[in-house]
Formats: sequence, C-alpha cells, structure tokens
Amino acid sequence: MIYELPTLNYEYNALEPVMDAETLEIHYSKHHQAYVNNLNAALAKHDIKQDNLVELLLNINDLPEDIQAAVRNNGGGHFNHSLFWNILTPEQDKQNGISPELESAIVKNFGSMDEFKAKFEDAGMKRFGSGWVWLVKTNSGDLKIVTLPNQDAPLAEGTPMLGVDLWEHSYYLKYQNKRAEYLKNIWSIVNWEQVSDYYQA
Ligand code: MN
Repeated sequence: MIYELPTLNYEYNALEPVMDAETLEIHYSKHHQAYVNNLNAALAKHDIKQDNLVELLLNINDLPEDIQAAVRNNGGGHFNHSLFWNILTPEQDKQNGISPELESAIVKNFGSMDEFKAKFEDAGMKRFGSGWVWLVKTNSGDLKIVTLPNQDAPLAEGTPMLGVDLWEHSYYLKYQNKRAEYLKNIWSIVNWEQVSDYYQA
C-alpha cells in the first residue's frame, strides 16, 4: 500500500468536550481510513506508484481519466484529514504557541485575531453542504481564507496552514445542526504551534 493512515498523536477522548471521542474515533478510523483505502485501490488499478501526495493532487489531470475523480476525492480526503489531525491538540502550550510572525501576519491581513476568527467562521458557515474552510498562505505571502467543496485540497491556492472539516460527520453527533457552535468551539483546540510551523515552511 502506498498510502497509510497517519498516527494520531492523542487519544480519541483527548479533545473533549469540543470534539467527542465517538466522533473522533469514527472520523479517524473509519472515514479517513476509507479515503486511504480507496486512494490506494484507485492507484493500484493502473499500477501508479506516485508516493508524493501533493504532487499527485497537483497533477490529477495527468492521470488516467477513470481514476481522476477517485484520486481527487480520496487523495484530497487523505491530505485534508492528515492536516486536520495535526492542527488539533489537547496540549495547552501548543494551543498557546502561535509565533509572533504568524500573529502579526494575521493582524496585518485581517485586522486582529478576533476579526480573523469571525471571518473564518463566517466563511465556514457560508460553505453550502460538505467541504472545508482553510487559512492558506498564498504564493505572494499573503494570508487568505478559502472554502472548497467536498474533499478538494486547497493546494492551488497556496500553502494550507489551518483547515476545518465542515462535513457533518465531523460534528453531527455532538452538535447536530449547530455548525456555528462547532466552529466557535474549535479554536480552543487549535494547535497554533503547528499552524505557525506551516506558516514558516
Ligand atoms: Mn472528515
């Protein structure tokens, strides 16, 4: 198998009460695992060995047509979820670990940290149906909030730094229809140390 489920760096119950253990376990061990399995199966059909996921996703149009949709959905799903687990943490020092560089970039681009969070939540609310909301560093170095449908990865937009899953499977057991509450609560488990590392990279 070319692609594997990444290790989760915390227990299923570690993000409670913001993200409940049952949701996290199903999300990681069933949904994410399925994206990995389906991605591997699609690539195996044509014996494709590309093990660089970013390169694979940036060049979907070069793949045989019959697996393009599967790679886009499942490769995107694998990329997005791998990033998502990394930018969440139960550890307070990481939650408080935003770098001065990233903090000033957020202030410069959005006015303040609070204004950034409000705009990010608003964008997440406006994504109709399933998708993701992202903070990306554009190729010119600016920060930008983008939302994309389904499992489309935001690689064409720049470097993804922070992404929040807007699919109902990410919040429905605990929040039901209250996506706004899920988006508001998630800030308290964001690993700003990791987001800052993505910003520097
Ligand atoms: Mn998901």
